[in-house]
Amino acid sequence: MLGGMEVLVRPDPALWLFLPPRRRRARFAVPYDGEASLGHVVRAIGVPPTEIGPPVVDGRPCGTGRRLADGSVVDLAPPDRPQPLPDGARFLLDVHLGSLARRLRLLGVDTAYDTHAEDAELVERAGRERRVLLTQDRGLLMRRALWAGAYVRGHGADAQQADVLDRFAPPLAPWTRCTACNGELVDVPKEEVVGLLEPGTRRCYDRFVRCRSCGRVYWRGAHGRGLDAIVEDAVRAVR
Ligand SMILES: [Zn+2]
Repeated sequence: MLGGMEVLVRPDPALWLFLPPRRRRARFAVPYDGEASLGHVVRAIGVPPTEIGPPVVDGRPCGTGRRLADGSVVDLAPPDRPQPLPDGARFLLDVHLGSLARRLRLLGVDTAYDTHAEDAELVERAGRERRVLLTQDRGLLMRRALWAGAYVRGHGADAQQADVLDRFAPPLAPWTRCTACNGELVDVPKEEVVGLLEPGTRRCYDRFVRCRSCGRVYWRGAHGRGLDAIVEDAVRAVR
């Protein structure tokens, strides 16, 4: 502690979930050493840098690299929605978001997902493939090497899907991606797949698509019931 300096933080209530209970309030003071950058202060109170819009210090927009003055007032708010994406709507989901990954693929959003990736691999891959890392792990979002990321709000795939669509409003192209591997689906003549089909399917369906990457064949009836409703809700949400 150098001379008891401090700064006053005023977090938007939408950021309170990242704060310890004693700091879930309109304003609180934090000790400041006179050296640390604004970005460091934000991390130190527990807010991932991906989860704030441009900070405002003493009423003026301020880069996160800047140092603060004793007694500065720091206003923090989430990014505007929809948040522009740095390089198109391409996502990488962490290992706990498998249901959300399948949902986004169903909607045609380019979504990489691997059940076994370690944290460091996720961060590296996000940068290499220019994907926004979606996670509920704040520690991942705190990593300095992370190219782009976002905290997914909500429990369960419905709420998480709604949050991602609301935050990024990605262009949707339902029924164009393989939910198993994210590959592109292309039309395939019935003759080519007829040998793979159960007799009932052979009788009832005429239009088929196949995944370019893994070869999986889909027809509308192959999707569980309720997926049409998911797609309709999503399309309505981003309209
Ligand atoms: Zn596939």
